Amino acid sequence: MKNIDYFNGKVILVIGLAKSGLAAGKLLHKLGAKVVVNDQKPLAENLQALELQQLGVEVICGGHPLSIFERDFDLVVKNPGIPYSNPLIQKAVEKGISVVTEIEVASIISEADMIAITGSNGKTTTTTLIYEMLEGSNRVPLIAGNIGTVACEVAEKASVENVLVTEVSSFQLMGTQQFHPKIAVFLNLFDAHLDYHGTRQDYGIAKAKIFANLTEEDFCVVNADDSEVMMLAQNIVGQKLLFSVKNYVENGAYIEDRFIYFQNEKIIAIEEIVLPGAHNLENILAAICAAKLAGATTKRIVEVLTTFAGVKHRTQFVTTINNRKFYNDSKATNMLATKVAVSAFDEPIILLAGGLDRGNEFDELIPTLKKVKGVVLYGETASKLEKAAKVAEVSFIKIVNTVTEAVSTAYEHSECGDVILLSPACASWDQFKTFEERGETFIKAVYDLEK
Ligand code: ADP
Repeated sequence: MKNIDYFNGKVILVIGLAKSGLAAGKLLHKLGAKVVVNDQKPLAENLQALELQQLGVEVICGGHPLSIFERDFDLVVKNPGIPYSNPLIQKAVEKGISVVTEIEVASIISEADMIAITGSNGKTTTTTLIYEMLEGSNRVPLIAGNIGTVACEVAEKASVENVLVTEVSSFQLMGTQQFHPKIAVFLNLFDAHLDYHGTRQDYGIAKAKIFANLTEEDFCVVNADDSEVMMLAQNIVGQKLLFSVKNYVENGAYIEDRFIYFQNEKIIAIEEIVLPGAHNLENILAAICAAKLAGATTKRIVEVLTTFAGVKHRTQFVTTINNRKFYNDSKATNMLATKVAVSAFDEPIILLAGGLDRGNEFDELIPTLKKVKGVVLYGETASKLEKAAKVAEVSFIKIVNTVTEAVSTAYEHSECGDVILLSPACASWDQFKTFEERGETFIKAVYDLEK
């Protein structure tokens, strides 16, 4: 951590605890700030607030009373999930107080350079790839953010010997002013989180804040195939590297004759890459650019790409049983993610899908369903999905009760060479606590089948 005075003596309101609020509250208190914490959950059942209170931090729990602003604050640090329509945040903005998220604090205190990765899809995969590619390089990589530990906690421990690899969401980026990565990666932009950001334009602007403080010594890695991302990166300071799965790019990563190149150096044949899917090629090209900039060797990059089978629950290869390959894409909680997963395979697919009913129909999934040879459906949405599968003329349709049952049913009706893919197109909360739990249930069912 930098030896900084920046927060010393400042009066700071932390709104919304969870992991990031707790970490920010503790750190700011340690750095000499007068911290006040506000959280919705009542104090008696709020372990994180109690922990901060024990350290001497003032806590106000059980609601968000506007009376908090009867005193003055120098800064508000808010949980990224809290919308700007929250009356407390509106009040802070009205009073001209800066409202930031925890990654702003991480960026200010970090002694280590930061590689930040944003985009609508592929953040976790690309972050993990970059981290893996930098293992064994001159600077020890530390992963921070959604996977692993909260960014400001990691930044506190990091030194110049490290490099921080962190994924950043639009919610986090919106609450930044001085956030300053050394390498900023922008993967893509799809319709997402419009309930939070209001318009697609505002969503893009929030994400583009990843570039806001780059200097001429810094770098950005940008998807040349995404015209919106290219536009957002148009007038930025910083050296620009491009990646493209479609065309040659002079400065960056591209594909030619089924080989990946970086700055005209041949890196690897696509056939050798373990991670499936065209979408992952984009993530791989972006990761190569960032990792190379940060000092990764080609040898290590090749090692990672010939072994890395995917981040858990994201089109993750599980195992092969009697020539049927099983993939766990439990993270696919919407139709777009399932569409991407299905288009990742050339083999015949039996798709396992279903889950929480949000009230929508599945008409948009029909073109995707046309590409699969069978579906096994479960959960609240099973009959709605069945309707869509019938329209798509899927030849094998079956409804079962559970994911476990879906695995054995799919296997019984599969043939050599098939892919059996869990990519639910729905949230998991009708039958599971989290998508991770759903994915684990799938993996266990597959291994039980193998036994
Ligand atoms: P994020 O962290 O942004 O949610 P993940 O790496 O966890 O992204 O991937 C989540 C899902 O998004 C994957 O299972 C896949 O279906 C889809 N996806 C991943 N990368 C891309 C990409 N580059 N373009 C489009 N979709 C993608």
